[in-house]
Amino acid sequence: MQESIAVAIDGPAAAGKSTVAKKVAGYFNYLYIDTGAMYRAFAWYAVQNGVDPASEKETRELLPSFAMDFQRKGKAQRVFVGQEDVTEAIRTKEMGLYASAVAVHPPVRHHLVALQREMAAQRAVVMDGRDIGTNVLPNADVKIFLVASPEERAERRWKEYQSKGQDADLALLLEDIRKRDKQDMERKVAPLKKASDAIEVDTTAMPLDDVVARIVQVVKQKVAS
Ligand code: C5P
Repeated sequence: MQESIAVAIDGPAAAGKSTVAKKVAGYFNYLYIDTGAMYRAFAWYAVQNGVDPASEKETRELLPSFAMDFQRKGKAQRVFVGQEDVTEAIRTKEMGLYASAVAVHPPVRHHLVALQREMAAQRAVVMDGRDIGTNVLPNADVKIFLVASPEERAERRWKEYQSKGQDADLALLLEDIRKRDKQDMERKVAPLKKASDAIEVDTTAMPLDDVVARIVQVVKQKVAS
């Protein structure tokens, strides 16, 4: 399907996907595509337009006018919906849950998956999400499935909020993570699942730099072969 090198990184919320994917992409100078940000951006757009993220009909009607893209600003990647920079606005706990709600609707997935495939067809990418190895890029050259215990993931999110000066309750974060895992794994369309040919990496007790080094090594082997 895709012509250039594609690295797919899937896994549950807060398993370290985006940190790892960004670093791997930086190492090889591949484009990093955060597909979770695309679902979050669409959820943000729905809320902005007074549309209920749980309604398939309402969200479907909104798709034709949804325009999002990733823009490079120096070293950072910013997320735009139309002219509006939504990079920070989509990172709230609420947007995580709304993203998970819009992500169950087949028309929404269909639309965003088409965009993701288009992006991957144009150049080498590292793409992270829930269904990249199983559905978006089933022929990806390298597939990684990152996991970590829910407690470890809740703590990582908690530290992330703390470092941004935002208050968060660890027990509530754990609850959110379990809720999102359940929603993502039990949905009918493209549920969160390890592809049969993916390499599983448990990051619970593994420094993220070691995870990056391991993936870089796998990609190098693949590219050389
Ligand atoms: O990865 P992130 O937490 O930003 O993703 C937000 C939500 O978007 C996930 O909980 C999931 O429901 C949805 N998602 C998805 N498929 C992807 C990426 C994200 O369904 N490829």
